[in-house]
Amino acid sequence: MSKQMLVLQLCCPHCSAALTQGNRVRLDAYVKDTNQDGEVSLSAVFGEYAVESSFDIPEGAVAEFRCPECDTSVMIQVYCRQCNAPMVSLNQVAGGYVEFCSRRGCKGHAIGGQGDIDDMISMMNKKFNTPYD
Ligand SMILES: [Zn+2]
Ligand SMILES: [Zn+2]
Repeated sequence: MSKQMLVLQLCCPHCSAALTQGNRVRLDAYVKDTNQDGEVSLSAVFGEYAVESSFDIPEGAVAEFRCPECDTSVMIQVYCRQCNAPMVSLNQVAGGYVEFCSRRGCKGHAIGGQGDIDDMISMMNKKFNTPYD
C-alpha cells in the first residue's frame, strides 16, 4: 500500500466551524499543568505528530482542547489506550469523526490516533468507504 499524504478536513462537532486551514487544524487549548491557555495547531495530515502552539506545552502535559469559534470543549469521555489521557473528538467534513489523545508526546496524539498508518488507512477505508490507496 502506498503512503499517500492524507489531509483531513475537520470541523467542530458543536458549531460545524471548519477547523482545518491548509495542512493544520486550528484549536484553542488549556494546559492545566502550566495554567496556560492559547492557540494550538495540529498537523491535519493523517498520522503526523507535528504540533505548534502559541505557548509552551511540556512533553507529557495534557491539554483541554476547545473549538476556537464557539469555545466549546471537544474532549470526550474516552481515554487513550496508550496513556489514559482523555481523547479529543472532531468531526470530518466528509462524514464520520476522528479521535486523538490530548497528551503532548503520546503517539495517540496524531490525528487519526494510534497505530500503524497502513492499518489506520485501511480502517478508514472500511469505515468511510473511501478508497485512499
Ligand atoms: Zn465550535
Ligand atoms: Zn495518549
